[in-house]
Amino acid sequence: MARITFLGTGGGRFATIYQARATGGIYVEDGRNLHIDPGPGALVRMRSVGIDPLTTDAILVSHCHPDHYLDVEILIEAMTEGGTRKQGALLASQSVIEGNGDFGPAISKYHLAKPKIVKVMQPFNKVSLKPFEIGATPSAHSDTSSVGFRIQTSAGMVSYVADTQLVEQVIKAHKHCRLMIACVTRPLGQRIPHHLSTEDAGYLIEKVKPELAVITHFGMRVIQENPETQAKWIEDRSGVKTVAARDFMMLELKKDAIAVSDRIRSAGEK
Ligand SMILES: [Zn+2]
Repeated sequence: MARITFLGTGGGRFATIYQARATGGIYVEDGRNLHIDPGPGALVRMRSVGIDPLTTDAILVSHCHPDHYLDVEILIEAMTEGGTRKQGALLASQSVIEGNGDFGPAISKYHLAKPKIVKVMQPFNKVSLKPFEIGATPSAHSDTSSVGFRIQTSAGMVSYVADTQLVEQVIKAHKHCRLMIACVTRPLGQRIPHHLSTEDAGYLIEKVKPELAVITHFGMRVIQENPETQAKWIEDRSGVKTVAARDFMMLELKKDAIAVSDRIRSAGEK
């Protein structure tokens, strides 16, 4: 079984600045642990639900905007036990690791020297971290080196559609996933360049037809217009069950179903 926890569901500048929703990224546990796009406050949100940052095996970063990368350095320190053990993997866009035009690099040389694996992820690159196989997918975003991810878990394929404009190659790259998690920054009728709006996500989900779709990374306008309303519109359009993520929502991918609940810190956790 794979377990996915939303350490944040906010995104874009103002939802992040005001912490209208948390911005701690997504944590995937399946024997080993992955942290996707740990934005501002990721460390604090881990503390809130009792996830020990030292148990992370890989950090995945889609692109070089702070709502996606800000806590990466401190989480590298955690993953490497304070920098004392060369272990773990950092898989990130070129902008995050090397820089790309005006973007990045976002991680100091000191921190880049700590993980065992540091890999610039270009679209269609794959890395095996058993039981996971992690692939990068294309994105069309203002940081031109942005990627999305496709993660093969023990319970099926999970697609993470990071910030991107809706283009044909993104739709194609995410076909045949069991679960799709999509970053929806703008609500119905308010599309802007380089990001998915509710309409875009509806089209994408309709084309890919996953078993379950989850929308997250809500900008301020999505929060004002109600994420549940956006999810309902997408579900009606696509015929795919669609959930608006909540902070600390948890998904359990079982063989025959995907269970949705809220993660609660259990007694005895650090
Ligand atoms: Zn972005």
